[in-house]
Amino acid sequence: MADEKPKEETFTFPKTFDKCPHCGSTRSFVEVALKKEMERAGAKDIPVLMSAECTYARGLFPIRLVALFEVCWDCGGPYAAALMKFVGASPSMGGNGPGRLQRPR
Ligand SMILES: [Zn+2]
Repeated sequence: MADEKPKEETFTFPKTFDKCPHCGSTRSFVEVALKKEMERAGAKDIPVLMSAECTYARGLFPIRLVALFEVCWDCGGPYAAALMKFVGASPSMGGNGPGRLQRPR
């Protein structure tokens, strides 16, 4: 029993969160604030408010981890909207700034 390997947990990306973990609201600051403008433009992609990323470059394929953040309209709490992992993306892809990231649905 002691030498039995524990079953490895599998992780799927992107991992998305569609509501505020603090109050349960589904209304985000960006969606509320840009609702009219996005409807007028027929836009479907929601702009990303904040993002953070790190690149793990040891090995053949650099791995880039990106977290997108939202702010809840109802309670103001910040939370992660999406956690993403890119394998093989060059670290020089730094030009792919927060404004151009797409929030997965
Ligand atoms: Zn909230």
